[in-house]
Amino acid sequence: MKKHNFNAGPSILPREVIENAAQAILDFNGSGLSLMEISHRAKDFQPVVDEAVALFKELLNIPEGYSVLFLGGGASMEFCMVPYNFLEKKAAYLNTGTWAKKAMKEAKGFGETIEVASSEKDGYTYIPKNYEVPADADYFHITTNNTIYGTELHADPDVNVPLVGDMSSDIFSRPVDVSKYICIYGGAQKNLAPAGVTFVIVKNDALGKVSRYIPTMLNYQTHVDKGSMFNTPPVVPIYVALQTLRWVKAQGGVEEMQRRAQARAKLLYDEIDRNKLFRGTVTNVEDRSLMNICFVMADEYKDLEADFLKFATERGMVGIKGHRSVGGFRASCYNALPIESVQALVDCMQEFEKLH
Ligand code: PLP
Repeated sequence: MKKHNFNAGPSILPREVIENAAQAILDFNGSGLSLMEISHRAKDFQPVVDEAVALFKELLNIPEGYSVLFLGGGASMEFCMVPYNFLEKKAAYLNTGTWAKKAMKEAKGFGETIEVASSEKDGYTYIPKNYEVPADADYFHITTNNTIYGTELHADPDVNVPLVGDMSSDIFSRPVDVSKYICIYGGAQKNLAPAGVTFVIVKNDALGKVSRYIPTMLNYQTHVDKGSMFNTPPVVPIYVALQTLRWVKAQGGVEEMQRRAQARAKLLYDEIDRNKLFRGTVTNVEDRSLMNICFVMADEYKDLEADFLKFATERGMVGIKGHRSVGGFRASCYNALPIESVQALVDCMQEFEKLH
């Protein structure tokens, strides 16, 4: 049976990316060695990093003066590296979900941390709109897509201080105005690569401004100076990231990814809104995520939740169970998900409705 992969992460990659990676794992560039066996200092590997960096810059239209890094540690490590490197006096955070809150918790260890707004008491069902960012903040941290709650900032906010963005779950799904940011980071395991590599886009002249000592490995400058090769980088995930970046470019770039994301999301949200059995969990329709589509059974059909999960699983849907802190369902629709998979889920919802 055909499987439709709605996992939130690690998640779906384009088939040709997986095939290219499989080939390189068997024999990297005709070297007779596996990609898993080569040195990151092998002469054939440097071009992989160089091309991945160049494609990041091209696809996201990154201005001059920024570096692209491939690190370990996941987005969770960036929660601490960001304040380590940028928080001198004060940082501002928008609390839009579990990940945003975890990022804010780390900042508190480094200096004054202001929560400018929060939707926590309403179960993170919307993105707060009316807030003021202190003009003397070193940066304003946002989580552009809230993977667990299914809300998303669809544009880069206009504020009077530089932005820092956790884009773990929506990178390469829309154009970004990188010039508003001093740092953009994320775990790669949703739209880019298997788990194990963290991408960081950092503005070079924003570094070196804090007075504290920063341990070598946690200092972005170390990795900028060494081109992500200060220590052994995650070679296999970086190679896969390059294949995905080539795929994004060949498909038409981030504008095309955005068009596809909008089409997939419209198809599924329209069904959630139409079907009497279901309702969306995000209260502000304009905050609905294009990447993680969260819904639950309508109140009068609550007891059908387990039945629908079984029904959908038997028809090839994978990974639609909602995050344990929200419940219900979450269909993650990352870049590589074909619209046919969303159509299969919609068909499933319609069939299930007919039975009830
Ligand atoms: N930030 C967001 C928005 C996420 O979705 C996740 C994981 O799903 C994280 C951070 C944590 O990422 P990692 O597991 O790479 O530390």
